[in-house]
Amino acid sequence: MRYIDLRSDTVTLPTQEMRDAMYKAEVGDDVYGDDPTVLELEEYASSLLGKESSLFVPSGTFGNQLALFTHCQRGDEVLLGDDCHIVAHEVGAASVIAGVNLRTLSSTKGQLNSADIESRIRGEDIHFPTTGLICLENASSNGQVVSLEYMKNIYSISQHAGVPVHLDGARIFNAAATLGVQAEDIAKYSDSVMFCLSKGLCAPVGSMLSGSKEFIAKARKKRKLMGGGMRQIGILAAAGLIALGKMRLRLHEDHKNALLLGTELAKIPGINVFMEDIQINMVFFDMSGTGYDPGRLATELLNKGIKINPPENGIMRFVTNYWVTEDDIRYVVDCVENIVK
Ligand SMILES: *Cc1c(COP(=O)(O)O)cnc(C)c1O
Repeated sequence: MRYIDLRSDTVTLPTQEMRDAMYKAEVGDDVYGDDPTVLELEEYASSLLGKESSLFVPSGTFGNQLALFTHCQRGDEVLLGDDCHIVAHEVGAASVIAGVNLRTLSSTKGQLNSADIESRIRGEDIHFPTTGLICLENASSNGQVVSLEYMKNIYSISQHAGVPVHLDGARIFNAAATLGVQAEDIAKYSDSVMFCLSKGLCAPVGSMLSGSKEFIAKARKKRKLMGGGMRQIGILAAAGLIALGKMRLRLHEDHKNALLLGTELAKIPGINVFMEDIQINMVFFDMSGTGYDPGRLATELLNKGIKINPPENGIMRFVTNYWVTEDDIRYVVDCVENIVK
């Protein structure tokens, strides 16, 4: 049975073109550095991100944690938003792998206050840990896109203090589509950037970490330490090349569908859609005004062939992706309307 899956863009299945490319991929042993398809993907990623070098990693979490591990020394302090993915959704890995301290700053819609950052960068004192890194997100894991001016400002503060910036750009191409810029225009305000091939871009597995030649050389060794030295991964890189070459260019369609979904849901009495927060492919809404228990919606919709996540703190999140069409959106809205009636 075909489901309409709105749980996340991580649920995207690889396209037929990806499967064909994976089948035919020319491969080698990537730990020896001789898998031609991986080399092609890493070069392509570097050119799109405007960085010297890139590395294929198994997941976004792996890429972020590898960045922390490579930039920092044990005991360093990392400044980042309290709601960002590294803090909220990476299983506390930063203390296990890099052995760093996450010093969280309050974040408003994915944006930190620059004065907060400035005041928390450590000076020289025998008591102080070293500020090893600042992490930013764009788009943020709650679907917000932050401006280039904001990133530029934070980056100039960090450069002035001699602290590197890592950008969690899991959805950097979504952010670029929303801002109407190239990914490199965003990535240039960071020293390293991680982005996912396996979300809206539809690849089955993989993320990329990009940065300077020296940084990626160090990261390559630490990737091995973390068990991420993989062999004939040209099979996966082949899908990644299609993700970057082709799927990247259609993300605006997901954004358009999210806007349609939000607009139509908002017409249902009692549903409050946070319209100004629809910046990429995510729609957040509060349905408490309908009197219907949002905890029951997932079960009801599943009976109609629609998969959603349960509410978080009472708020529903629907995510559009390549496999969700405009017709699907209209069907979902009809179903929700009938259920809450
Ligand atoms: C999904 C996501 C990640 C992690 O990616 P995984 O491949 O699921 O480990 C990191 N950061 C953000 C902002 C994400 O949305």
